[in-house]
Amino acid sequence: MAYIILNRSNFYHNLSQIALKTGSLDKIAIVLKDNAYGHGTILMARLASEFGISKAVVRNYQEALVIEQYFDDIIILGGEIHPKPNLSYAINSIETLKTAPTDTRIELKIDTGMHRNGIGAAQLPEALSLIEKHGLRLTGLMTHFRSADELGSELFWQQKEFEKTKMIVRRAGFKDIRIHSCNSAALLRSHNFKEDIVRAGIAAYGIYQFPKGFDAVDLKPVLSLHARRVSSRNLGKGAKVGYGGDFTAPSDMRISTYDLGYGDGWRRGSSAKPYTTPDGASFLGRVSMDFVALEGDKEEICIMNDARIAAEHFGTISYETTTALSAEIPRTVI
Ligand SMILES: *Cc1c(COP(=O)(O)O)cnc(C)c1O
Repeated sequence: MAYIILNRSNFYHNLSQIALKTGSLDKIAIVLKDNAYGHGTILMARLASEFGISKAVVRNYQEALVIEQYFDDIIILGGEIHPKPNLSYAINSIETLKTAPTDTRIELKIDTGMHRNGIGAAQLPEALSLIEKHGLRLTGLMTHFRSADELGSELFWQQKEFEKTKMIVRRAGFKDIRIHSCNSAALLRSHNFKEDIVRAGIAAYGIYQFPKGFDAVDLKPVLSLHARRVSSRNLGKGAKVGYGGDFTAPSDMRISTYDLGYGDGWRRGSSAKPYTTPDGASFLGRVSMDFVALEGDKEEICIMNDARIAAEHFGTISYETTTALSAEIPRTVI
């Protein structure tokens, strides 16, 4: 089977770059949702914890249980609520405030303009009274930006909205509340980070795609994807390769089949626009469920060592390229 290598020193390099922005490791909550963006939840949790990160963000309670032993403090973005002293739940709607069990630690999510999840400014008084009435423990106030990765005024406008809600919550008498609004993009464009936590995902994995006009921070991809040779053969000029015979050998050549396909979460793409590996080898013909074909007969090949490049090729974002990779692919740390 294909395999994934996780580069520990690249990960630590990225975490250090993030810490330079936040001022301390203590302010980093590493986002480990969705199999740590396809990198592997447990391996990345362990590495982050060994580096000194004590906070994490996950998608749901089930994910939190998997990494609980590595962190003091875990923020859960949604799903069923099971109160525990080390877990804190992002509140995405008023309804959740009505059903959350007493003593649940909550991060109230403010909808400052993304209109995906959270409580709008107009609902804030109702939300605060529900928190008191149901005995919920407000530990944090958060928001999420819709355009932190685009230059323009939208981010600042959302930040202003967030400032207003912070004041309302403080005036209502809630104390010791941690504030967090930044994902990777928002942190990387900030010059004086003043909040209590950053929720850092893509930058930690080293595959943040800097938009033009951003001061790029040096980040290094953590994940590389490799495949092993299954079989080789010699083709005569004119022979066709794979489903549909989309590739025709332009001359006599030797080709090999490697053990990666769309069944592993690799993109099938289009054989008319073949993907090229970091060593410059083009995929020959269509990608199958479990196989791809390449010229030559090397035992192992690197398929991808920077998800940003693959994402660009497939017209998607680096998040999708790594998150799609099957959890079954063996992963090792070097
Ligand atoms: C996924 C997620 C993040 C992390 O975003 P990156 O762009 O990967 O840094 C932060 N906050 C919330 C609410 C998220 O869902």
